[in-house]
Amino acid sequence: MALLSVVLPAYNEEQNISRTAQVLSELLEKNDIDYELVFISDGSKDGTYAEILKAKAQNPRVKGAQFSRNFGKEAGIFAGLELSLGDAVVVMDCDLQHPPETILQMWKKWQNGAEIVEGMKSKRGKESLAYKLSAGLFYKIMSKLMKMDLNSSSDFKLMDRKVVNILLQLPERNTFFRALTFWAGFHTETVEYEVQERQFGSSKWSFWSLLKYAVSNATSFSTLPLQMVTFAGVVAIIFSVILGIQTLVRFFMGASVEGFTTVIMLILIMGGLVMLSLGVIGHYIARIYEEVKGRPKYIISQVTDNVNGNVMGDWKKTV
Ligand code: UDP
Ligand code: MG
Repeated sequence: MALLSVVLPAYNEEQNISRTAQVLSELLEKNDIDYELVFISDGSKDGTYAEILKAKAQNPRVKGAQFSRNFGKEAGIFAGLELSLGDAVVVMDCDLQHPPETILQMWKKWQNGAEIVEGMKSKRGKESLAYKLSAGLFYKIMSKLMKMDLNSSSDFKLMDRKVVNILLQLPERNTFFRALTFWAGFHTETVEYEVQERQFGSSKWSFWSLLKYAVSNATSFSTLPLQMVTFAGVVAIIFSVILGIQTLVRFFMGASVEGFTTVIMLILIMGGLVMLSLGVIGHYIARIYEEVKGRPKYIISQVTDNVNGNVMGDWKKTV
C-alpha cells in the first residue's frame, strides 16, 4: 500500500498541533490511506515540540523534529521532506488554513498518474489590508519575474517521491519551494481550494518579513534585477546624451551659466541610480557569499524518529 506523508512546518503553533493531527488522521483513516504526519517545529519558542511529542504518544504515525532556532518556513518544508518516507508527500500549513479534504483530491490525481499536484487558491481567506497590499504587490512582481501565476499558487501541494528526491538533491541553500515544483517540470495537475480562516494563533508574517521574503525570492530565482541595472544604465546614457547636446548648444550660444538646477538634479538622479544599482549587485554578492559558505539549511536539535539512520538530524546530509 502506498504511503502518504504530510509535511507540516510549524512555528509557535502549540494551539494547532493536536487538532491538526487529529483532523488529518481521522480524515486519512476514514479514506483508507496509509499515512504519516511530519511536523517540523521551526525553532518554536512555545510548546509546539512538546505538543508534537504528545500527538505522537497518541498516534505513532506522527513524527517530527525541532530546529535549534527559527530557520524559516522554507527550511521547515525541506526538513519535512528529508524526514518523510512517503511515496507521495503533501506539504501544507499546520494551521488548517489549507483545507484537509483537498488532500483527498490530490491523492486521487496522484493515483491517476500526476507527479505534482499544485494546490491553487480559488479565493484568499480573510486577511488584513496590510497583508493584502504587501502580499498582492509581492505576488505581482514575482509573477512577472518568474513567469508563473504566483497569485493563486501556494505551498500546498502534493509531490511524487521522485520529485521530492530531486528537490532534496538541489545544492542551493536559498530555495523557493513554491516555484521549484514549477521549475522541476513533471506531469503536473492542479486542484483548487479555498483558504480557510485561521482558528488559533496569528499569522507569522509581518509586513517586513514578507518584504524580505519577496526580495530574497526574487533574487534567488531570477537575475532580472541585475538586467534592470543594465537597463537603467542605458536609459541614463540616452538621457545624458540628449542633455549633453542641449548643454553644448546652449554653451555655444553663450547662455550656459543658468544650468545649476540641472546640475543638482543630475547629481541626485545619477547618485541615486548608482547607489540603487550597487545595492542590487551587492544583494547578489551577498547571496553568492551565503551559498559559498555552504552552511546547512537548518539545524535539528531534537527529532522523534531515527529516520533513514538520520539520528538527531544529521544535517550534513542535507547540504
Ligand atoms: N511557519 C514556519 N516558520 C516561520 C513562519 C511560519 O514554519 O518562520 C509556518 C507556520 O507555522 C504555518 C505556515 O508556516 O504552519 C504558514 O504560516 P502562517 O499561517 O503564519 O502564514 P499565512 O497563513 O498567514 O500565510
Ligand atoms: Mg496560515
